[in-house]
Amino acid sequence: MKCEEIEIYLSGYLDRELTQQQVQFVELHLTDCAICSDVLDELKLAKEATRELEMQQPTLQEWNSMETTILEKGTRSIGWLVLIVWAVVTVGYGAFQFATSPTEPLFEKILVFGLFLGFGLIFLSVLFERLRERQHDRYRGVIR
Ligand SMILES: [Zn+2]
Repeated sequence: MKCEEIEIYLSGYLDRELTQQQVQFVELHLTDCAICSDVLDELKLAKEATRELEMQQPTLQEWNSMETTILEKGTRSIGWLVLIVWAVVTVGYGAFQFATSPTEPLFEKILVFGLFLGFGLIFLSVLFERLRERQHDRYRGVIR
């Protein structure tokens, strides 16, 4: 067999796609042909490099799950934001109406203000905790 004929088979030889007979032809030729042996070595290196590159890149599935996570997190963040704005506006409006109402006694106003203040502070502390946890998560994500 000529070198040109063997070279056609070399890729298939590496991928174990040849028949037993073809494998024997190639191996017989390789034992006394340095040129084809070199070609085979180069092919082997190229294939290994390609395989490593493929392994380093995330698969399509991984990309998709990453996108889903970003989408989920983004949607949730917007949801929280809308909820917070709604709560602040609603409570703020209610508190303003109550505080400026001339019919309610001052003592009751102070009581309700205390209630709002307490809940408000608890809410803020939870919010700050969430924000800190999220930053922590992001930091951990960078390390990984
Ligand atoms: Zn050869």
